[in-house]
Amino acid sequence: MPPSHPDPIVNLDNVEKRFSAGGATTAALSGISLNISPGEFVSLIGPSGCGKSTLLRIIGDLIEPTAGRVEVNGKPARNARRDRDYGMVFQAPVLFDWRTIEANVELPLEVMGVSQAQRRSRTEQMLALVELSDFGRHHPWQLSGGMQQRAAIARALAFEPKLLLMDEPFGALDEMTRERMNDELLRIWERTGTTIVFVTHSIPEAVFLSGRVVVMTPRPGRITNLIEIDLPRPRNEATRESEEYFRLVTAVREALRAAHGGTIPEAEPLVVDESGANA
Ligand code: ADP
Repeated sequence: MPPSHPDPIVNLDNVEKRFSAGGATTAALSGISLNISPGEFVSLIGPSGCGKSTLLRIIGDLIEPTAGRVEVNGKPARNARRDRDYGMVFQAPVLFDWRTIEANVELPLEVMGVSQAQRRSRTEQMLALVELSDFGRHHPWQLSGGMQQRAAIARALAFEPKLLLMDEPFGALDEMTRERMNDELLRIWERTGTTIVFVTHSIPEAVFLSGRVVVMTPRPGRITNLIEIDLPRPRNEATRESEEYFRLVTAVREALRAAHGGTIPEAEPLVVDESGANA
């Protein structure tokens, strides 16, 4: 694939990942090549087990690929991690209960040896950005799930990462809260100009947020489609009701269906029957 930008922030070239456990080998990813430009919002979508999290973790240098090249910000992923080019947000917010919200947001800055005065001002800015200024002195357990996840986003953004990696950050939230969080995330993304790689199961979420949706298929995980989402920005409630939005949601759904040889992917919540079996 030709580079979509002369200096992509993420450059994946023929990435493979195999896991070996108990004598069995799982081919988790195969032939993954993808360029992501600075400032893009890209979602990875596909059914459970197609390797979305594995790919995100490889980009973030939490695990190594079996083969292929991974460059972030023009250098090997290992160096990008060492240079703290990443922020990461996971499904569970991973906040420390014994620390206040501000102390949680400050933690990475503390680890980096940032002065107390700078830490304070940066933390105040970040809490304002995620609209939690009045909750800095609270403990995580005093906040709702959505608020905790906003605090985790504030923490990930506190050291101004060039790349924010998000692994189903809103998967545990109800639909209304998730939509509100999507609105907030776009507002934050627009203000900070950071690049976001976002893993989700949700087709509407991927379409609403992204500039491009990467459709993946399992065993082994491959990229089958790159779908441009050319909905105008800023996006809002009117976006969710527009014909173009429905058209793109359908296009992504059909790409997922085609990737599964005509069967509906198990990750599509509307079609998983109550026994949990594939429809
Ligand atoms: P997704 O995020 O799309 O649900 P994952 O990246 O979690 O998919 O997993 C992709 C495949 O790799 C799955 O078959 C999974 O069981 C396997 N896998 C992931 N992590 C490991 C691991 N640490 N050891 C062995 N197999 C793994």
